Amino acid sequence: MNWTPRVKQIKIRRLYRYAKIGVYDDILLHDIGWQLYDRCCDIVTVADVYRYGKVPCPQCQSQIQRQIDILSSSGEGGTKEYWFNCPHCSKRLLWRDCRLDLRINPRCLTCDNLLQVSDKYQCNCGKSWTKKAYGQSVRTRVRLPCPHCRNLVRRPEAPLKEKKAIRQNYSPTLSCPKCEGTAFHRNGNIECIDCNYIRRWKAYRKSLKKKDEKLSCVNCRYEFKWQEWRKSTQTLRTGNPKPARDFVKKWSACRTSQQRMIQIDSLMQTLHGRGPLAPLFIDSGESKIRQMLDDLAS
Ligand SMILES: [Zn+2]
Ligand SMILES: [Zn+2]
Ligand SMILES: [Zn+2]
Ligand SMILES: [Zn+2]
Ligand SMILES: [Zn+2]
Repeated sequence: MNWTPRVKQIKIRRLYRYAKIGVYDDILLHDIGWQLYDRCCDIVTVADVYRYGKVPCPQCQSQIQRQIDILSSSGEGGTKEYWFNCPHCSKRLLWRDCRLDLRINPRCLTCDNLLQVSDKYQCNCGKSWTKKAYGQSVRTRVRLPCPHCRNLVRRPEAPLKEKKAIRQNYSPTLSCPKCEGTAFHRNGNIECIDCNYIRRWKAYRKSLKKKDEKLSCVNCRYEFKWQEWRKSTQTLRTGNPKPARDFVKKWSACRTSQQRMIQIDSLMQTLHGRGPLAPLFIDSGESKIRQMLDDLAS
């Protein structure tokens, strides 16, 4: 997995020092801008994997469909994801965007402040959660903050015709985890008709999630593990990839040094407004990044 590294903080400071005295350092502008561009492409790629369940092959970039996603979308009969619009800022969302945002940047479920992370999650307002309890709460809540505007949004319902379709295909054929024969999801269990294996559906789903998924590229035959891929994306994951998407679109349209400086600056302003996003782009400690973004904004 060859991800573009984050941009060094010193470089950005240098760029601004020159800009302040009215000088555009062209080489530095290109250097930083294109690195940010590549980094943004990576962030967008990773966000799309969580959204569509397709992983790009690290060797040839072909799309590989994940198994587990197929199962969670048809198997549980209701967790299939639907697009909806935030009623406050009208951004297009998937429910998992709201969940993922909290999983990456845990925030207080009462006051929405960022939580202090130690062996548990702690908020300045006095609330605290164990990591497990927090995860469970995020999973089961029907109202979560929109990752863009932070207002509470309600978990969307499946559209009617989809609901019917889910009910009709309720028994997809599965492969028995013991004998690889034909199994069905029936009466809250997975039941194999070949070896009579039977297990609670929930326990089966859980074990599937735990098992590391092997991904193989049909195009170049490269094989890799999901967990290893996932680990490599640790500093690239966000529930709010929009600033990265915007930069990708706008950067390549820049023709002059001034336009380039404006795009970089507008990304920095966005990052300034959204603290937790900045470490995805800039290589430094969190407090140093905050200090720099404060300086640039003043
Ligand atoms: Zn909103
Ligand atoms: Zn929104
Ligand atoms: Zn709080
Ligand atoms: Zn079996
Ligand atoms: Zn490949």
